[in-house]
Amino acid sequence: MDTALAHIVMSALTATVNGTWHRLRMCPAPDCQWVFYDNSRPGRAKWCSPQLCGNRAKTQAYRRRQST
Ligand SMILES: [Zn+2]
Repeated sequence: MDTALAHIVMSALTATVNGTWHRLRMCPAPDCQWVFYDNSRPGRAKWCSPQLCGNRAKTQAYRRRQST
């Protein structure tokens, strides 16, 4: 089985058992879409990694603004 898929399935199963399903997120970065567990305290994490995908999205939005 694909390891990424296995990770998603395991996360989903664990979340269902723990009742934390609503904390599973899918990273909105089009080239990532990683399913991750939001363990931030407010429960509002958007990116799988704010350092990686969050930063990359900010940079891309900035570049789009510059080019138009
Ligand atoms: Zn991501």
